[in-house]
Amino acid sequence: MEMTKIFRDATKEEVDKVMEKSWQAFLAYKKCSLKQRADFMRTIAVELEKIRSEVIPVAVEETHLPEGRLNGELGRTIFQLNNYAKAAEEGAWLDARIDTAIPERKPNPKPDLRKMLVPLGPVVVFGSSNFPFAYSTAGGDTACAFAAGCPVIVKAHPAHAHTSEIVAGAIMKAVGICNMPEGIFAHVHGASFEVGKWLVMHPLTKAVGFTGSLAGGRALFDTANQRKEPIPVFAEMGSINPVFLMPDKLQHEPETVAKMYAASITQGVGQFCTNPGLIIGIEGKSLNTFITALSAEIKKIEPANMLHRGIAKAFWQKRKDALGQKGVHTEAVSEAQAEEMQGAPTLASASAAAFLNNPVLHQEVFGPYSLIVKCKNADEMRQVVLHTEGQLTSTIMATEEDIRQHPEILETVQNICGRLIMNGVPTGVDVCLSMQHGGPYPATTDSRFTSVGADGIRRFARPLCYQNFPDHLLPEELQNANPSGIWRTVDDQLTKDKIS
Ligand code: NAP
Repeated sequence: MEMTKIFRDATKEEVDKVMEKSWQAFLAYKKCSLKQRADFMRTIAVELEKIRSEVIPVAVEETHLPEGRLNGELGRTIFQLNNYAKAAEEGAWLDARIDTAIPERKPNPKPDLRKMLVPLGPVVVFGSSNFPFAYSTAGGDTACAFAAGCPVIVKAHPAHAHTSEIVAGAIMKAVGICNMPEGIFAHVHGASFEVGKWLVMHPLTKAVGFTGSLAGGRALFDTANQRKEPIPVFAEMGSINPVFLMPDKLQHEPETVAKMYAASITQGVGQFCTNPGLIIGIEGKSLNTFITALSAEIKKIEPANMLHRGIAKAFWQKRKDALGQKGVHTEAVSEAQAEEMQGAPTLASASAAAFLNNPVLHQEVFGPYSLIVKCKNADEMRQVVLHTEGQLTSTIMATEEDIRQHPEILETVQNICGRLIMNGVPTGVDVCLSMQHGGPYPATTDSRFTSVGADGIRRFARPLCYQNFPDHLLPEELQNANPSGIWRTVDDQLTKDKIS
């Protein structure tokens, strides 16, 4: 049965109306307590569970992702909402600070100063095609914005518009159950870039959350910078996630590492922002053994359907461009014939010199593709690190001996990524407070923040300092009588010490 529906793009007038309603909702929602926000988020989680049997078949049809994977992703989305709700309620993210007054301070009395994070305002969210739940309509950005006290306007991804519509329905149900202000959530369709542009340019939009390609993220970032009032754009974009294979490690376990990486490169038809698209090793017998073993694995893996026609087309084009570059050698391709909609697992190689001189080889080929860069020695490997752009993750496959021999690699790799992995694979992003999912540009537009884990809430808030406020006019979290008070820091002693 054909389940996919066609949705109409929003008009400019509709976008204006949505934004005005969203602003009115902001004025009411920002006054809700942390508990009310958390209850609302938990209710969304409950409503998402209720639509599971309805939405999964639609998502399967729209994305071609397997049912098991989509069920898992919906579970993760529900977990995120509950996890961020708990964090929102506990309030550590508010970064509350209290410096009490010192009236007797000379030459000037010190005022009472109290500071905490307050919500920014309406947040426009653009989800990605490869995560129709966890990085989409009710995904991480939406959950973080609600936790921070911001209304959300989602621009549905045209590749899973129907899935998005059903999820939006569950959020709207929660809005009703929790008596939240109308306009706290809006769902807008837009297969044309125009709709996204209007949303980003609208004066009542106060922040943007984006997950997707570098081209898309950069375009929206540049659009936002043309506004009269600049706003933050938190764009999480593509990444090639370099893996540095150190010699001692490779000498001991070439086959094990090869098996691990064959699975990581081809997991989910390579359609992960943490896919290991670049593998760097030092020329020699061990690297050759590794390449032979990895090639044998890659050849065995069957091609599979990609998310949508656009992604598959981009994969074949970018793969062709990459393989056609001077000095690039195709090491292995899946032995089974791939159809147009499928991604064929592919492994290529090039010398470090070829890589260093060719920016095309630094670009993401979104899909089951990885390039091995062969360095002459550790110094050339360091050159590769120094010339690799910002990444979500980097991985070091090394023994203790490797680290002792090449401390400079560990040192320099830290400068280019948001998450540094030791002896593992970059695919798989845990949802917890210590996770960092964001890195130096072009991985993201602001490496100070994460889009996974409850710290992501801070993206949609700004500090506000209250000076000499009567206690009853302060937000509850800054009042003297606040019974929980776990996040308060009273450092008047420190201030006195500094002055005397
Ligand atoms: P995408 O094509 O950039 O689409 C993302 C969203 O942005 C869509 O709603 C899209 O609308 C919109 N968009 C794209 N270009 C635009 C423009 N110029 N103006 C206005 N709106 C625009 O990305 P995708 O194909 O869905 O996702 C795959 C990419 O996401 C990969 O590169 C992957 O690495 C990356 N990704 C990153 C993360 C991360 O956390 N960093 C996570 C998952 C995926 P249209 O479809 O209408 O273009």
